[in-house]
Order: sequence, then structure tokens, then C-alpha cells
Amino acid sequence: MSRIAYVNGHYRNLRDACVNIEDRGYQFSDGVYEVCEIRDGRLVDMPRHMARLQRSLGELRIAMPMPLSALSVVMREVVRRNRVGYGIVYLQITRGVARRDHAFPPDAVRPGVVVTARSLSRARNEATAARGIAVITVPENRWPRVDIKSVSLLPNVLAKQAARDRGAYEAWYVDGDGLVTEGSSSNAWIVTRQGSVVTRSARSGILSGITRSVLIEVMEALQVRFEERPFSPAEARDAAEAFVTSASQIVMPVVSVDGQPIGDGMPGEISRRLRQEFHRFSTFS
Ligand code: PMP
Repeated sequence: MSRIAYVNGHYRNLRDACVNIEDRGYQFSDGVYEVCEIRDGRLVDMPRHMARLQRSLGELRIAMPMPLSALSVVMREVVRRNRVGYGIVYLQITRGVARRDHAFPPDAVRPGVVVTARSLSRARNEATAARGIAVITVPENRWPRVDIKSVSLLPNVLAKQAARDRGAYEAWYVDGDGLVTEGSSSNAWIVTRQGSVVTRSARSGILSGITRSVLIEVMEALQVRFEERPFSPAEARDAAEAFVTSASQIVMPVVSVDGQPIGDGMPGEISRRLRQEFHRFSTFS
């Protein structure tokens, strides 16, 4: 079955789907994106993703290309046409096509919209979660506006590749104060030896992850102790457990940081439980 993408008003075979070379997303990374998990053919936590999308667009003064309700219809349609039961849907909105000039184009230039969807192997994800992943640390080198989910991801690409080059799965950025901000494509968490779950505040230095925000509610409901504060790589290496969160991985246990095992080097009890319970607290649409 060929994959289908939505591109600026049309559903196309992926191999025929293209955008103009003067799209500002291509030339300036001038755009934003969202990734939602798909479970049982349904989109997980869409209202939160759409709220974050609107915020990202607003911060960059990119117009909403169509009403949210229409955008949701397109995303669900792409999921349906690709027959994705378990996987992700990707939405990208750019400032549109205009003669190359750094400053914004005239208001008449309409934003560009691309939606794709892809199946993932649930079995493979669960196997990865059962083993846990390795994380390395890298110096924070991103711009301060990491709260905007921009398609400008070059530092993230380099950090992820640095992880791969060292046999790890994710890279955690460490800021100038020696504190972990987040992963190259995930939020970073530890569980202290006292059983308290810790992650940095979303007020600065990180993307406010949707999985992160749902998980905080999961912990409240399950009465898991939670502290919103930064932690250092040393504290992480000494923690009982660690994990990362993102829409495509949900709660993914971390079993080593910079080559040092966390806890007993196996996914921790609290991480496993939060992963299991997560979708009881998600919305599906
Ligand atoms: N931080 C970064 C830098 C990310 O790319 C992601 C994944 N989009 C996250 C955090 C996690 O966000 P979410 O839970 O919304 O997927």
C-alpha cells in the first residue's frame, strides 16, 4: 500500500508529494510542527497538541492555515488513508512560499501545511521499553526559545547523532549551570532513591511536552511524589530510575547515563508503572 500525505489541500501519494523550493520551511526552517501518537487508529491528546500548535504559531506570528476543527479532520483522514492503527501523525505548518527574503512575506502568502502518518511497531517499542535505553549528555547549544516547537532542529539532529555514535538512544542537554534541560526529542526525568519523580519546570529551557503534562496528572491521580526542579547529570547517575517522555515513546525507561548504569541497570518499577497507566489518563479522538 502506498503512503498518503496531505500537502496544501491535496492528498497525494508520498512519492508524488512535494513542496515548492521557495517554501520558507525549506529555506529558513520557518515553521512549526506537532507529532501525535496514534493508538487503535485514534489520535492521542489532540486538544493539548492543538493548543501547543496554536501557541507555537502565535509566538512566530504564522497564521493558522485553517480552523482547528478542519485541521483535525485532515489529520484523522491521513491516519485513516494510511491505515495506521499504532504509530504517529506528523503535522508541519510553515510560513509559506515567497521569494527568498529573511523578513516576513506579505500577509497574502498563505502558510504551507503538510500532514503525514506512519505505522510503528508496537512490539518493537514495548521490547525497547522492556530493555530500557542508554542516554548520553551533551552541552546545551540551542536557542533560548525551545518552548516553540519549531522545525529548526539542527542542534537536535546533531545531539541525536552523537548519541547514536556512542551506542546510545537519546542525548540530554546540559545547560551552563550544569543542569539537564531535556532530551533532543524528549523530556528528561529521574526518580530519586526516596521515590520522588523529578523533572525540570517548563517555564524555561524545555519544550512543554504533552506527554509530560499528562504524566504530571497521572502522578497526581496515582499519588506518586513529584518535584518540579532541575537535576544534574551526577544526580541522574545516582538516581534510582530515569526515563524520557515523548508522544512516540510515552514513558521510556533510561537504564544508563553516560555509560553509568542507573539503579540496577534495568527499567525501574515506577517508570514501568507510569508507562502502563499512562493511557488511562489520555484523551482519544
Ligand atoms: N522536547 C523535545 C525537544 C521534543 O522534540 C519532544 C518531542 N516532540 C519533547 C520534548 C516531548 O514532547 P511531547 O511529549 O509533546 O512529544
